[in-house]
Order: sequence, then C-alpha cells, then structure tokens
Amino acid sequence: MINFNEPIVTGKEIDNIKSAINLKKISGDGVFTKKCSSWFEKKFNVKKVLFTTSCTHALEMSALLCDIKPGDEVIAPSYTFVSTVNAFVLRGAKIVFVDIRPDTMNIDEDIIEKAITEKTKVILPVHYAGVSCDMDKIMKIAKKYNLYVVEDAAQGMMSKYNNMYLGTIGNLGCYSFHETKNYSMGEGGLLLINDERFIERAEIIREKGTDRSKFFRGEVDKYSWVDIGSSYLPSEINVAYLYPQLEIVDKINFDRVNSWKCYYKNLKELEKQSLIELPFVPDECEINGHIFYIKVKDIQERDRLINYLKINGVLTVFHYIPLHSSKIGKKYGRFYGEDNYTTKESERILRLPMYYGLKEKEIIYITSKITEFFAKKNGEK
Ligand SMILES: *Cc1c(COP(=O)(O)O)cnc(C)c1O
Repeated sequence: MINFNEPIVTGKEIDNIKSAINLKKISGDGVFTKKCSSWFEKKFNVKKVLFTTSCTHALEMSALLCDIKPGDEVIAPSYTFVSTVNAFVLRGAKIVFVDIRPDTMNIDEDIIEKAITEKTKVILPVHYAGVSCDMDKIMKIAKKYNLYVVEDAAQGMMSKYNNMYLGTIGNLGCYSFHETKNYSMGEGGLLLINDERFIERAEIIREKGTDRSKFFRGEVDKYSWVDIGSSYLPSEINVAYLYPQLEIVDKINFDRVNSWKCYYKNLKELEKQSLIELPFVPDECEINGHIFYIKVKDIQERDRLINYLKINGVLTVFHYIPLHSSKIGKKYGRFYGEDNYTTKESERILRLPMYYGLKEKEIIYITSKITEFFAKKNGEK
C-alpha cells in the first residue's frame, strides 16, 4: 500500500524533545522557538516571525492585525481550505470570492480589481500547491487601492516568486506545519511579518493581549493587559520536533521537487495524448513539490481512477469543495462574477501520493497504473 501522505520524521526528534524537557521549559518561546525563529528570519530575510499553534491561528492573528471590523470585505479564492477565510469571518468580514485560473488553480489576478468595493480591506492570495500567485500584479492592485495583502502560504514554504520566498511578499504571510505539509511539528504555524508596523501589536495579540514579550526582554518592569488577544504560541515540544527539519531543509526540498519532476516526466505522454492535464508552473515560480496533481476529464472519471488506484494499492485524494457552494460560504460570502473554473476544475483534480521519502520506484509504479487505467479505457476490463 502506498499512502497518500506520511508525516516527516528525521530521526532526531526524540533527542530534541528530550533536551527541551531537560531545559525545564516546555511552554512557548523557549530555546527552540528562539533558534527556529532566527533561522526563519535569516533564511527568508523577514523582519519578524512568530511561531503559532497553526496556520489557522497565524491567519486569525492577521485578521486581528488588519483590524477587520464587521462588514469589511476580504477578497479570496473559493478554491481553498476553510481556514483561509474563516479567520477573517471570525472578525466579522464578508468574503468576496473570486474565480481561479485553471492553469495554476490560484486566484485570477485579472478579476481582483473588479471585485474591489469601498469596503475591501484585504486581498488574500493562496499559493496553491506551493505555486505562487501573480504577486506582482496583486501587490500593484493593493498599493493602488491601499489594501493589505495577507499571503496564505500554508503550502508554500521554500517556494519562490521572482526569487522571493512565498510569505515574504505581502504585508503578512502564514505558514503551516501541520503533518500534511512539507515541514511539520504535528500542529503548528508561523506568522511572517514583512510590514514593521505590525510587529509590536503582533507580539501582544499572540501573548493574550499583554506586553509579556516586552517584559521578558526587560523593556517594561511589569506586564499588563494592553489589547485584545489570545494564546497563539506553541509549546517548545512541538518546535523541538520541527528543528531538525530546518537543518536539512535543502535535502527535504530537493527530495520533494525530485518526486514532482519524476511524476511529471512519467505522465507527460498521457498529457500529450490529451488524456490528462499536468500542473503548470509559471516562469517566475520556483516550486517546493508540495502537491503533485493531475486533472482528468470529469468527476466520474476521477472516481473511477481513485478506485482503480486503490485496488492497486495506491491512495489518492482530492480537495476542495468550493467554499462559496457551502451553506456557511453563502452566509458569510458572495461570489464575484462567474464561476467559470472554481467548481469545474475542483471536480477534475486528483492529488497523487507525495511525501518526504517517497521512492522513485513507487512513483514509477503509480504512474504505470495511471497509464494502464487509460489504456484499459478507464479501467474497464
Ligand atoms: C493546511 C492549510 C491551512 C491550515 O493550516 P493549519 O496549520 O492546519 O491551520 C490553511 N490554508 C491552506 C491553503 C492550507 O493548505
């Protein structure tokens, strides 16, 4: 059986967790959080990063930092995970969903400007599969209308756009370290603060609305309640799990990108025969191999292929049910313009197994079974 995902394990986790215990500090912002935070700030050249308990929480912090008030509008794709928009809905925002581009499955940058109203406050690009949105265009629009850009880069760590790391381009960026992502601490996330104006308040919001971070640095002699906030900092035990992955970050990235390329090469022939479509990566983008997907004809063909692969020992998955089609999505959002691609493309997409350590021979087996499926006319005997 080839699993769809296997959480990343480097082998050094237990030693690191032991040392967190020996340091007698397992709550947040200890040695491991400090080491990992400076690693991110240096590696990605970010003004300030803050570890969070999830990407969802990094997004919630972003909504708080952007001062979202009831009735404010946020522009986002409908083809995304619920957390992208839930975080803003919690602050009272109305979500204006915009169609995606069928080639990258990312928000269509050419529609964003038309969807802006007087109430728009934030543009929320999601870098699907670790392939960047058209950030040049998005940043230009944001500047013109004085909007914030919050990047949902949950899937985008180590990917680049015009040589800039994803998550470092907008005012704020959010990473996920959930076990389904390229780098993991079980549950966890990171808020990347590229806009200095947010730093002080972000520390306060993350520390229950207190200036405790300043107190620990000796900048104030007592800490008190200074703003609204919550508890968004992860335990040292979780960050200790992540630490060894950062030490071999290039190896992990190389491994996943290699798997991605191996899939691509082995499935090219089927694309040439117009039986499937393969992912598209614009010239400005460097990928991290987060997801490898194919697109088939329609939802029925996808069901048959999922089944065919399953009986051959290969687990595949699909996502997302477009948010605007859900009951809650209708309540808290509206779709701007036509849904030309969001629904249609979401029904054609199939994600193939992808994780650190997936073997080339396994990829060759998977792609041979996909080829066989189409040779047998959709797996019929
Ligand atoms: C995984 C994911 C999230 C949520 O990440 P958590 O760390 O589980 O909260 C948000 N947005 C996107 C696009 C994701 O893929």
